[in-house]
Amino acid sequence: MLTRLSQSESNFLVEQLLTWFRTTKRDLPWRQTYDPYHVWISEIMLQQTQMERGVAYFLRWIERFPSVGEVACASEDDILVYWEGLGYYARARNLHRAAQEIVGKYSGKVPADYETLLNLPGIGPYTAAAVASIAGNQDVVVVDANVNRMFARIFDIDEPVKDRGVQKQVHQLASELLPRGKARIFNQALMDFGGLVCTPKAPHCKSCRVQRLCSAYQRGTVSFRPVLKSARKVVLLTRVVAVILCEGKVFMQKRESSAVWGGLWEFPGGETLTGNSSGDELDLVAEVNYDTALRVIKENFLVEVQHQYTHHKVSLLSFVCRLQDEDRQQPTLKSAASFAWVTPLEMDALPCPSGVRKIIKYMKKQRPEMFTANYAA
Ligand code: SF4
Repeated sequence: MLTRLSQSESNFLVEQLLTWFRTTKRDLPWRQTYDPYHVWISEIMLQQTQMERGVAYFLRWIERFPSVGEVACASEDDILVYWEGLGYYARARNLHRAAQEIVGKYSGKVPADYETLLNLPGIGPYTAAAVASIAGNQDVVVVDANVNRMFARIFDIDEPVKDRGVQKQVHQLASELLPRGKARIFNQALMDFGGLVCTPKAPHCKSCRVQRLCSAYQRGTVSFRPVLKSARKVVLLTRVVAVILCEGKVFMQKRESSAVWGGLWEFPGGETLTGNSSGDELDLVAEVNYDTALRVIKENFLVEVQHQYTHHKVSLLSFVCRLQDEDRQQPTLKSAASFAWVTPLEMDALPCPSGVRKIIKYMKKQRPEMFTANYAA
């Protein structure tokens, strides 16, 4: 059952948060000017990404794409290379499309109005609220995981915080607290306080300035809040891929944009649930032939790397392969958008899933001889 705050407690809570933010706020690059373009990029990047890592990606991005115009006219590969490692690549492709729309419709100026933002590709209610309030100081609330956690504790919410009904309640509570005309600092204060003080593990309750009105603290239920739904089970996968060599170049294919890792480049191969079959049992030659129509010979094991995405853990096994007849066969792609034979240098300019990038790094560092035209495995 949700507890309520009196008006004076609500005022105290807001005051404390705003004062705390003014004196303790994190020094983040997009907070220097609150440029809507910078705020937009930071918000998209920080979804599912830790702050420190997000800042590093943000700075690199802004150096390469200082304005929306540069994003709009970049190639999709270029965009994805600068996104590589952040995951959820649909975000980057949508950002690219949105930038093109912003250039076409709004002369390259990112709108800072909630309703206008909502109409852009890849911008949902959360991002629209974040950009509108942080860049435009528009009176809308932003509820992220930090805010959910903090509210679940302050109001001692004993139902799963992600339930639709609870989400509505949290939005309502945040809207009631929002001091008009101060959405920029209020929303950031909430998010930062949740991230730095009311942390997921070991929150700093002893020194917390809102402790006296925190119901979970008063009732001793902090460690039970927020109530979470049970986590998704981790799925273990084994993927076997072919590094096909021909005259010092390697065959790579680009994934369809509708697929997971859409638009990213990879080596052809197949996967299976780990435990159902080991990687060795997968018929790599047949998989490659099915996917690309290339006839290859599997020569030797190259390297095994691990990578993780959403709730999947993947063991990626790679094998050096060669074309059956040394001539260049013409591939026919079954499930990829395009292909290329690439040199090590060209690989750097192609966006890849992190597991594939690990294999590329291994080859370049440990097996550079593979890229010589007359290499024999
Ligand atoms: S008292 Fe503890 S649980 Fe409550 S808001 Fe402060 S840090 Fe969070």
